[in-house]
Amino acid sequence: MSDQNAMPPAPTAGQCLCGGFQFEITGPIGEVRLCHCDLCRRANGTAFSANARIPLRHYRVISGQDLITGYESSPGAQRCFCSRCGSPVYALVTNDPDHIRIRLGTLDREAEATITARVWLVSKARWDHLNLAVPLFEHGVGSSLVQAATAWNGL
Ligand SMILES: [Zn+2]
Ligand SMILES: [Zn+2]
Repeated sequence: MSDQNAMPPAPTAGQCLCGGFQFEITGPIGEVRLCHCDLCRRANGTAFSANARIPLRHYRVISGQDLITGYESSPGAQRCFCSRCGSPVYALVTNDPDHIRIRLGTLDREAEATITARVWLVSKARWDHLNLAVPLFEHGVGSSLVQAATAWNGL
Protein backbone atom coordinates (compact mmCIF):
# COMPACT_ATOMS: atom_id res chain seq x y z
CA MET A 1 0.00 0.00 0.00
CA SER A 2 2.64 2.54 -1.04
CA ASP A 3 0.33 4.33 -3.47
CA GLN A 4 0.00 7.85 -2.10
CA ASN A 5 -3.25 8.28 -3.99
CA ALA A 6 -4.84 5.14 -2.63
CA MET A 7 -8.26 5.56 -1.10
CA PRO A 8 -8.23 5.49 2.68
CA PRO A 9 -9.41 2.16 4.06
CA ALA A 10 -13.16 1.79 4.40
CA PRO A 11 -14.45 2.57 7.88
CA THR A 12 -15.04 -0.31 10.24
CA ALA A 13 -18.69 -0.44 11.29
CA GLY A 14 -19.96 -1.43 14.70
CA GLN A 15 -23.27 -1.68 16.48
CA CYS A 16 -25.00 -2.99 19.57
CA LEU A 17 -27.12 -6.13 19.49
CA CYS A 18 -30.40 -4.35 18.68
CA GLY A 19 -28.75 -2.10 16.11
CA GLY A 20 -30.09 1.06 17.70
CA PHE A 21 -26.58 2.29 18.43
CA GLN A 22 -24.29 2.40 15.42
CA PHE A 23 -20.81 3.83 14.99
CA GLU A 24 -17.77 3.60 12.79
CA ILE A 25 -14.01 3.68 13.16
CA THR A 26 -12.05 5.41 10.43
CA GLY A 27 -8.52 4.36 11.36
CA PRO A 28 -6.75 1.13 12.24
CA ILE A 29 -8.07 -0.84 15.19
CA GLY A 30 -4.58 -1.03 16.66
CA GLU A 31 -3.66 -2.93 19.79
CA VAL A 32 -6.32 -5.29 21.12
CA ARG A 33 -6.20 -6.74 24.59
CA LEU A 34 -8.23 -9.51 26.12
CA CYS A 35 -8.97 -8.58 29.72
CA HIS A 36 -9.85 -11.32 32.22
CA CYS A 37 -10.39 -9.00 35.20
CA ASP A 38 -13.41 -9.40 37.49
CA LEU A 39 -14.97 -6.18 36.21
CA CYS A 40 -14.71 -7.12 32.53
CA ARG A 41 -16.01 -10.64 33.15
CA ARG A 42 -19.08 -9.39 34.96
CA ALA A 43 -19.71 -6.41 32.72
CA ASN A 44 -19.64 -8.61 29.63
CA GLY A 45 -20.97 -11.89 31.03
CA THR A 46 -18.02 -13.66 29.44
CA ALA A 47 -14.60 -15.09 30.31
CA PHE A 48 -12.90 -11.90 29.15
CA SER A 49 -13.52 -8.71 27.25
CA ALA A 50 -11.81 -7.77 23.99
CA ASN A 51 -10.96 -4.09 23.94
CA ALA A 52 -9.34 -1.70 21.49
CA ARG A 53 -8.17 1.77 22.48
CA ILE A 54 -9.21 4.03 19.62
CA PRO A 55 -8.39 7.74 19.22
CA LEU A 56 -11.65 9.67 19.48
CA ARG A 57 -10.81 11.44 16.23
CA HIS A 58 -11.16 8.05 14.48
CA TYR A 59 -14.51 7.31 16.08
CA ARG A 60 -17.90 8.55 14.88
CA VAL A 61 -21.39 7.84 16.17
CA ILE A 62 -23.91 7.22 13.39
CA SER A 63 -27.06 6.77 15.44
CA GLY A 64 -28.48 5.99 18.84
CA GLN A 65 -26.23 7.88 21.27
CA ASP A 66 -29.39 8.56 23.31
CA LEU A 67 -29.66 4.81 23.97
CA ILE A 68 -26.29 4.67 25.69
CA THR A 69 -26.11 4.52 29.47
CA GLY A 70 -22.94 4.57 31.52
CA TYR A 71 -21.97 2.83 34.74
CA GLU A 72 -18.95 4.04 36.68
CA SER A 73 -17.39 0.68 37.55
CA SER A 74 -14.34 2.29 39.13
CA PRO A 75 -13.48 5.93 39.77
CA GLY A 76 -13.12 7.68 36.41
CA ALA A 77 -14.10 4.68 34.30
CA GLN A 78 -17.50 4.66 32.62
CA ARG A 79 -18.63 1.37 31.10
CA CYS A 80 -21.23 2.22 28.51
CA PHE A 81 -23.95 -0.05 27.21
CA CYS A 82 -27.13 0.07 25.16
CA SER A 83 -30.08 0.62 27.47
CA ARG A 84 -32.39 -1.25 25.06
CA CYS A 85 -30.45 -4.46 24.40
CA GLY A 86 -27.76 -4.42 27.08
CA SER A 87 -24.76 -4.70 24.79
CA PRO A 88 -21.56 -3.37 26.32
CA VAL A 89 -20.25 -1.06 23.61
CA TYR A 90 -17.41 1.08 24.93
CA ALA A 91 -15.71 2.54 27.97
CA LEU A 92 -14.50 6.05 28.69
CA VAL A 93 -11.68 6.80 31.09
CA THR A 94 -11.34 10.32 32.44
CA ASN A 95 -7.54 10.24 32.59
CA ASP A 96 -7.38 9.25 28.91
CA PRO A 97 -9.87 11.73 27.44
CA ASP A 98 -8.71 11.49 23.82
CA HIS A 99 -9.47 7.78 23.47
CA ILE A 100 -12.44 5.45 23.62
CA ARG A 101 -12.21 1.77 24.51
CA ILE A 102 -14.32 -0.13 22.02
CA ARG A 103 -15.69 -3.58 22.85
CA LEU A 104 -14.44 -5.50 19.89
CA GLY A 105 -17.42 -7.82 19.69
CA THR A 106 -19.54 -4.89 18.54
CA LEU A 107 -17.55 -4.57 15.31
CA ASP A 108 -18.50 -6.24 12.05
CA ARG A 109 -17.09 -9.71 11.61
CA GLU A 110 -14.67 -8.58 8.89
CA ALA A 111 -12.95 -6.03 11.13
CA GLU A 112 -9.16 -6.25 11.03
CA ALA A 113 -7.62 -6.49 14.47
CA THR A 114 -4.64 -8.09 16.15
CA ILE A 115 -4.73 -9.40 19.69
CA THR A 116 -1.52 -8.39 21.41
CA ALA A 117 -2.02 -9.48 25.02
CA ARG A 118 -4.19 -11.17 27.60
CA VAL A 119 -4.21 -9.15 30.80
CA TRP A 120 -5.39 -9.52 34.41
CA LEU A 121 -4.98 -13.28 34.37
CA VAL A 122 -4.54 -12.99 38.14
CA SER A 123 -8.32 -12.62 38.39
CA LYS A 124 -9.49 -14.92 35.60
CA ALA A 125 -12.24 -17.42 36.36
CA ARG A 126 -11.05 -20.83 37.53
CA TRP A 127 -12.99 -22.53 34.73
CA ASP A 128 -11.22 -20.42 32.14
CA HIS A 129 -8.28 -22.62 31.11
CA LEU A 130 -7.26 -20.43 28.14
CA ASN A 131 -7.47 -23.65 26.22
CA LEU A 132 -8.77 -24.00 22.68
CA ALA A 133 -7.93 -27.72 22.63
CA VAL A 134 -11.60 -28.57 22.81
CA PRO A 135 -13.77 -29.68 19.89
CA LEU A 136 -14.45 -26.84 17.45
CA PHE A 137 -17.71 -26.59 15.52
CA GLU A 138 -18.72 -24.23 12.79
CA HIS A 139 -22.19 -23.83 14.32
CA GLY A 140 -23.87 -24.50 17.65
CA VAL A 141 -24.37 -28.21 18.44
CA GLY A 142 -26.10 -30.39 21.04
CA SER A 143 -24.19 -32.08 23.81
CA SER A 144 -24.32 -35.51 22.14
CA LEU A 145 -22.37 -34.16 19.19
CA VAL A 146 -19.88 -32.51 21.50
CA GLN A 147 -19.38 -35.83 23.24
CA ALA A 148 -18.89 -37.55 19.93
CA ALA A 149 -16.36 -34.82 19.28
CA THR A 150 -16.75 -34.79 15.55
CA ALA A 151 -14.91 -31.55 15.51
CA TRP A 152 -14.81 -29.11 12.68
CA ASN A 153 -11.20 -28.24 12.04
CA GLY A 154 -11.67 -25.57 9.46
CA LEU A 155 -10.34 -22.70 11.54
ZN1 LIG B 1 -28.96 -1.92 21.49
ZN1 LIG C 1 -10.83 -5.70 32.58
